[in-house]
Amino acid sequence: MSTGKSISPPRLVAWETTRACNLVCRHCRAEAVLEPPADELSHEEALSMLEDIAAWKPSPMVILSGGEPLMRPDILELASYGTSRGLKMLLSTNGTLVTPQLAADMKGAGVARVSLSLDGPDAASHDDFRGMPGAFEALKRGAAYLREAGLSFQINTTLTAGNLSQAEIMTAMTVELGAAAHHIFLLVPVGRAGDMESLSAEEYEAALKTIKQREPSLTIDFKATCAPQYQRIGREMGLSAGRHSGRGCLAGQGFMFVSSTGICQGCGYLPLSAGSVREKSIVEVYEKSPLFVALRDRLTYRGKCGDCEYWNICGGCRARAHAQGDYLGPEPLCPHQPQSGKGAEA
Ligand code: SF4
Ligand code: SF4
Repeated sequence: MSTGKSISPPRLVAWETTRACNLVCRHCRAEAVLEPPADELSHEEALSMLEDIAAWKPSPMVILSGGEPLMRPDILELASYGTSRGLKMLLSTNGTLVTPQLAADMKGAGVARVSLSLDGPDAASHDDFRGMPGAFEALKRGAAYLREAGLSFQINTTLTAGNLSQAEIMTAMTVELGAAAHHIFLLVPVGRAGDMESLSAEEYEAALKTIKQREPSLTIDFKATCAPQYQRIGREMGLSAGRHSGRGCLAGQGFMFVSSTGICQGCGYLPLSAGSVREKSIVEVYEKSPLFVALRDRLTYRGKCGDCEYWNICGGCRARAHAQGDYLGPEPLCPHQPQSGKGAEA
């Protein structure tokens, strides 16, 4: 493994501020619970971690996620502290707890953007997915409160075998709600999502082609996340990379996740520990842990993703590979057969 070169800071650090959540979503990675577990990072530990993150230059953006971050009593203080340290603070919520006052307070704490989760285009489908009657109406109310507070928000949608055919309608809804962006996430079979119906590699490929074909006509900022093959598919279709041309899988390469107990991971769906912020600085973990070093080193990859000419822009989902038994192994939901060996690029 190569460890000699200097490592750029991550662009994004997602912190699972708490596993507590008021909903019981069918796809929940965190298998969230109603009450926060006792071993979550304390207020002081969180401040210390934010201080360490702020030492990175350029500073990463920090996503306050969960669980449901608005269930954490000190969330606004933490957002405010991060802002005061020069960090761009983002907050990811299911939207049901947003009130006019909270929207104004989040803006006051310097939160730069809020993401809300929409997983069905109507009350029946969204409420079923989210496990709470009324979640759909609450989300729409939350969006209105954010709009009134002048706080930028985006809509995140997890696409599954069940709601894939409604993706276009949900993008249209996102525009109607006044969101700044629509980010779609392709289901990763972790946590409760492990029991959900999965697409085959061919169905997945066809779905991404349809979405990529539609992308140039969209009137809203659109991003496909955790669908690493999206860039490869775009190139094969002769379409431009669009506004979001970054690498497909960002785990350990521009992105990291910190769990509610301080465990650093490549992403929230890849349940392998790179070390704890309770024991080391987050900077040291990102730069030096064997897990992150391996994720960044093409030569450690096994199977077709390591051999693939698209490794630099894709890399395959390491979490889906891990669910098959080897986090450095081939992405199971990609039918592409590489044309060249390690070192070649498309
Ligand atoms: S391993 Fe990569 S593509 Fe897969 S869920 Fe994590 S960041 Fe997304
Ligand atoms: S083989 Fe792996 S790296 Fe290549 S396009 Fe498929 S998922 Fe991406």
